[in-house]
Amino acid sequence: MLVKVILVFLGLMVLVALIGRALFPSALPRVLRKDAKPPVCGKCGRYVIGRKTCDCGGKAK
Ligand SMILES: [Zn+2]
Repeated sequence: MLVKVILVFLGLMVLVALIGRALFPSALPRVLRKDAKPPVCGKCGRYVIGRKTCDCGGKAK
């Protein structure tokens, strides 16, 4: 019984996530967006992953 409730709950979570993703793709964090390109430095064009600023002093776009 309890396992069934947990499975239904998980199913609902997945459903809500899928609907939310379909309706509001821009509201999701960058990590969940597969089509989004990784952040690139606006100054030198290098990938800036995991931080906001680049080694050259530029900021990620
Ligand atoms: Zn840079």
